[in-house]
Amino acid sequence: MGKLGQDNSSGLNEYVAQGTAANGQIRVLAVDNTKIVEEVRRRHQMLPWASAALGRTMAATAMLGAMLKDNDKVTVQIVGDGPLGQIVADGDAQGNLRGYVSNPHAEVPNHSGNKLNVGAAVGEGHLFVIRDIGLGEPYSGSVPLISGEIAEDFANYFARSEQTPSAVALGVLVDVDYSIKASGGLILQLLPDASEGIAIMLEHMLKDLPPISSILADGGTPEDIIEAAVGDLEPKYLHQLPLRFSCTCSRKRGEATLVALGPEELRSLLEDEGQAKLTCHFCQEEYVYDQRDVEAIIHQITAQAGE
Ligand SMILES: [Zn+2]
Repeated sequence: MGKLGQDNSSGLNEYVAQGTAANGQIRVLAVDNTKIVEEVRRRHQMLPWASAALGRTMAATAMLGAMLKDNDKVTVQIVGDGPLGQIVADGDAQGNLRGYVSNPHAEVPNHSGNKLNVGAAVGEGHLFVIRDIGLGEPYSGSVPLISGEIAEDFANYFARSEQTPSAVALGVLVDVDYSIKASGGLILQLLPDASEGIAIMLEHMLKDLPPISSILADGGTPEDIIEAAVGDLEPKYLHQLPLRFSCTCSRKRGEATLVALGPEELRSLLEDEGQAKLTCHFCQEEYVYDQRDVEAIIHQITAQAGE
């Protein structure tokens, strides 16, 4: 709903496709979030390690959002001890998506064949999933990271924290100029009345799947990803959730951040810099409050405190 969403003319392929397969025994979701990851890369000037880690995380977050309803929201945090620092992504049931990495310029040595070593860039730590479904305290679950490669960390999260056996594939293809050539993902989940045979099959369904990012780079759609994975299990498509890059920051919200600093801190900011400047972690939008703005905020705080 942020103003950034309105001028986003990104293509029709940016959506989550959702459905079932094997007569309703498996839930399937697939996503193309290429242009949104490219938008974030451009805003943060991300290097390939950050692009790969965040693109994968945002693909999973978009699919988690598509599993929600109405105004429900989901936040994914990957807190590792690697050079990328924290990875954060927000999604919701309306298809809004945003995210950032603490250190977008972090670099690590790659695997042989120049394959990005995302696991080393993320490090050891935890994956957190926080769902806000509008009922007071948000629901939160977490698991230790297995590899930091993200897809298997999400599969582990679904199995351990939500008791839902799942297969997850995520992929980002970074071009030679560091722009994002493709980014997307696939989640397969066993539904409660799945047969044992299907449960055993699930573990092998991703084995022969071509990389998600190459399916998308070749012009494929989220449905093509699903066909490649479970095409022989008669997938049925329920709906598509269009995605947009959008941030909830605003000048008004920034004022609340300044109010929280307190009058003393604000006065010393004015003395040092003559203004206050805030940059949004998510979208890099900059909000500048000049001397008069900051004085008005100080006045507002002190008036409320009855000074
Ligand atoms: Zn923002």
